[in-house]
Amino acid sequence: MPRFRYTTGVQAFPWFSHPDDCDALAGCDCGSADACGTSTSCTCAQTNRAAGDPLLRTFACHGDCACRPGCALRWTEQRCRVPLRGVHMGRKGWGVTAGARIGAGVFVACYAGDALSDARLVALRPAYDAAALSYVLTAAEHFGGGGAARRTHVDATRRGNVARLFNHSCAPTLELRAVHAGSMAPALAFFARRDVRAGEELTFSYGGDGGGGGGAGGGGGTRACLCGAEHCVGRLPCASDAP
Ligand SMILES: [Zn+2]
Ligand SMILES: [Zn+2]
Ligand SMILES: [Zn+2]
Repeated sequence: MPRFRYTTGVQAFPWFSHPDDCDALAGCDCGSADACGTSTSCTCAQTNRAAGDPLLRTFACHGDCACRPGCALRWTEQRCRVPLRGVHMGRKGWGVTAGARIGAGVFVACYAGDALSDARLVALRPAYDAAALSYVLTAAEHFGGGGAARRTHVDATRRGNVARLFNHSCAPTLELRAVHAGSMAPALAFFARRDVRAGEELTFSYGGDGGGGGGAGGGGGTRACLCGAEHCVGRLPCASDAP
């Protein structure tokens, strides 16, 4: 396995700021840990619904919310509760399998690493491509109905967590979402797209999916896809394929 430093730290993006009066990020005043999500007065849940996310995964509860750490909407504060196994998979290199069944919609992990600006990524990309390093994850978000997507890049080349080993699949088991926890800077979080059996590989689409996130390994575009899915498109998508 390539050398890297293990961290569970989720990156900070100091260049993403938000206005003080941004209600979507202000936090809810739910009084108990199990009220969020079920209570119709939870403003974090309301913001998710207004954003068209009935599964309440785009805006997470955070430190400015009145609920307590056990709240189910505090995705980005949770540690992965699912046993995950790093497995060497022959030609595909390293991958990750589920150590137990994972139910559909369950949070699996955030992608840890260093935040990259667009300019920094452009500067690093030639060296990463030359070394066939593909640990930069990009998520695209659309605000205000159309317009250009805002992209968030997290680089796990030097430090990261188990999520850096998730492989691409044309029929992925995970969905990537950009989750906001009181900040314009999102955490990049993976959720199970469907029930995943113990021993199944955890994969996501590097080219993004319908869930609002868009992922991409560095390089890509010309490398053969080895996912083995029935409808495999034959090559790895690249960042520019992300919606
Ligand atoms: Zn909450
Ligand atoms: Zn709440
Ligand atoms: Zn909240």
